[in-house]
Amino acid sequence: MERAIQHLECPVCGLPIDVPEDALDGEVLEHECGAMVEVVRDGGRLSLRPLEGVQEDWGE
Ligand SMILES: [Zn+2]
Repeated sequence: MERAIQHLECPVCGLPIDVPEDALDGEVLEHECGAMVEVVRDGGRLSLRPLEGVQEDWGE
């Protein structure tokens, strides 16, 4: 069974990255460049944002 793939651009290195069309909002993928990118679903449209070193500390 094939999973539909969207070819997006890695926000870190600019190279193509394969993203499953059914990727969830907030799903984290690792690109071959080593960057971690987060999937952002916006009205059925997929985009990516870098997750590198972003560690927001909201406190608890
Ligand atoms: Zn990359």
